[in-house]
Amino acid sequence: MSTTTKPMELKTQSPPASTQTNGRPGVEGSTSRTSQPVIHHQIVVVGGGAAGISAAAQLLERKRNLDIAIIEPSDKHYYQPGWTLVGGGIAPLAKFIRDERTVIPKGATWIQARVAELDPDHNRVITESGQIIEYDYLIVAPGIQIDWHLIEGLPEALGKGGVTSNYSKDYAPYTWETIRNFKGGTAIFTYPATPIKCGGAPQKIMYLADDVFKSKSGVGVNTKVLFCTATPTLFAVPEYSAALEKVVERRGIQVKFKHNLKAIRPETQEAIFEVTTDNGKEEVSLHYDMIHVAPPMSAPDFVKRSPLAGPGGWVDVDKATLQHTRYPNVFSLGDASSLPTSKTAAAARKQAPVLAENLLAAMQSKPPVAQYDGYTCCPLITGYNSLIMAEFAYGGKLAPSFPLDPTRERYSMYLAKVHLLPWLYWNRMLKGKKFEADIFKPINKLVHRY
Ligand code: FAD
Repeated sequence: MSTTTKPMELKTQSPPASTQTNGRPGVEGSTSRTSQPVIHHQIVVVGGGAAGISAAAQLLERKRNLDIAIIEPSDKHYYQPGWTLVGGGIAPLAKFIRDERTVIPKGATWIQARVAELDPDHNRVITESGQIIEYDYLIVAPGIQIDWHLIEGLPEALGKGGVTSNYSKDYAPYTWETIRNFKGGTAIFTYPATPIKCGGAPQKIMYLADDVFKSKSGVGVNTKVLFCTATPTLFAVPEYSAALEKVVERRGIQVKFKHNLKAIRPETQEAIFEVTTDNGKEEVSLHYDMIHVAPPMSAPDFVKRSPLAGPGGWVDVDKATLQHTRYPNVFSLGDASSLPTSKTAAAARKQAPVLAENLLAAMQSKPPVAQYDGYTCCPLITGYNSLIMAEFAYGGKLAPSFPLDPTRERYSMYLAKVHLLPWLYWNRMLKGKKFEADIFKPINKLVHRY
């Protein structure tokens, strides 16, 4: 496997129909499986979501003349953290959608296609249409796969009869419709047994719903809210878990640990859980009048079956350098990577500059120069007007950006989630710019002992 940069031999060519060149064309070579010309780019990014766009933008901020192609099938880009706000009736979905072409960094090429195969032994990827795209360096960032089908009856039940999920843009508006029109009864919120993106999202929507039931729609007295989670605690980091325990206690929410949703029976409004007890596993059926499901998730299938996959199917990268453990010209970040931290856009924001530094070092045959500390952030909405900004790094180490106690519910942090973070995403993160909260770093060192 070659890890040196091939000289750029740019030719004028008509790009394939699905390629939008916002810079320079790729290099045409032999023909691929479907007689489309083989394309070559110096750096190929698989996935133009939060992580892929940020990584490409960070690279181009550092070196303008890089030849980067981003392979992304969708013509829309979604700010997924906004889906919680949609489900809670705080903002419309349209606020969190932009055309993909508007987020492709200037100088990068967008190839509108879906990758079907990763072939790192030949430094190439192959799209669903059979197009072969060769690279010198590869960044793998296709996000996480949502395995709706692993819950029996769920795909058919979603979007009606009070069955919903903010994990799809298609159902987030229905979440709000369901909460708003809820007439009382049992409202269940679930959390699965797999890693998921934004581990706080299943609780955030529950606290918003509970707020509506208690203080807006008035159905609270006739309503039981249940959090049914496959996990043994409310949150992976003990300090934030303790803060959330107070929230559920104050709200009178019943928490059922080690409850893993297995099936939905919409005809009888039953949710079937596999419950782990001291005596083994047992099946428990709970009645629901509405249910918000956080579905099981996994690495995308084409990643799982590729040579790049490691344990669990994720792209197997070094947890500090983001470089692949076996293919040094391959890097990964975001939800599809094996990075052992909570999968969030905030994590990708901190990973992208590390990846850019280390990929540029690799291009000069130098060892990695930057290290990722596992930073991630889950803005835990605990009601309309309150939020715990749960920032942490590897080992559950608290990593607050602000000189304030991060375990406290705050109105200021709620405002940051609703107004500031979306702005930062579109205008700073996706543009490869620095995050302004870094200005608090010197004060944080004095205030925090984490
Ligand atoms: P994505 O942003 O999902 O992008 C992956 C991209 O890859 C997509 O554009 C997709 O079309 C593309 N792709 C997929 N398959 C292929 C293929 N075969 N070939 C080419 N391209 C492909 N994060 C936070 O930081 N804070 C929050 O408050 C927060 N709340 C959330 C709430 C909800 C309801 C949800 C759903 C997510 C939330 N997140 C939050 C998580 C955050 O959105 C993700 O962690 C983040 O988007 C991950 O970035 P990514 O680029 O790895 O994946």
